Amino acid sequence: MISIHNVSKSYHQQNIAYQAISNVTLNVNKGEIHGIIGASGAGKSTLLRLMNLLEVPDAGEVLINNQELTKLRGRSLRKARQTIGMIFQHFNLVANKTVYNNVLVSLELANYPKKDRRARVTECLKFVGLETHADKYPAQLSGGQKQRVAIARALANQPEVLLCDEPTSALDPNTTAEILEVLQTINQQLGVTIVIVSHEMEVIKSICNRVSVMEKGQIFDTVNIMPKGFTT
Ligand code: ADP
Ligand code: ADP
Repeated sequence: MISIHNVSKSYHQQNIAYQAISNVTLNVNKGEIHGIIGASGAGKSTLLRLMNLLEVPDAGEVLINNQELTKLRGRSLRKARQTIGMIFQHFNLVANKTVYNNVLVSLELANYPKKDRRARVTECLKFVGLETHADKYPAQLSGGQKQRVAIARALANQPEVLLCDEPTSALDPNTTAEILEVLQTINQQLGVTIVIVSHEMEVIKSICNRVSVMEKGQIFDTVNIMPKGFTT
């Protein structure tokens, strides 16, 4: 599903290059929930952002469904990216838009057929249990509800992959369990492949089928695990 081949990425600050990812190779299988764990600064977030070209690699290949992303430009890159949804630690909702309009934006950006937009937004909000909150603004929601809106937005264009960057790190334990349950439902019911970055072993253990351990910009090991469920 996702294939990262010998990818490197450095950041440049005041003429000093800092190697965030060094020669990483990783395969994420279709249908799995793949965890990426490691200490702060290990390169987890950079690796995740390379998977949808939010970061462009200095070297190496990023393939989604055997399509090499770094070779795509313009329209074909936008189309390929629509197969990949993403959620973040701090939700990244648009503060002056309603819940409804936050989800609508992703349909607008994807040129989703106008006549079908309203039904699709409503369907996505129902899926995350927020259909009665459509007219609220993000500031009126709890953290868990905000993450649900972000999930609805990420699912709107029916992605094949959902990238999750510390999706529960801003949430309390009960809300964390609820969001992990939503992610598991998305994986099982919709068949969406999920990659989840976390520094919390409990989160990874509760939901992932495989986990890659990162250290200093490299993958130290990738192991199969048996998800335990998400009791708190
Ligand atoms: P993690 O997600 O494991 O905490 P990151 O991928 O965020 O790690 O960061 C890896 C390294 O790259 C860190 O040392 C971080 O400071 C650096 N880094 C990340 N993003 C940037 C950026 N935009 N500019 C400069 N350095 C960055
Ligand atoms: P505008 O283009 O005037 O900013 P909006 O962004 O408010 O319009 O709404 C865009 C479309 O979505 C309109 O057809 C509107 O009726 C519909 N819409 C907005 N909010 C909701 C909602 N909570 N439930 C259902 N449909 C909505």
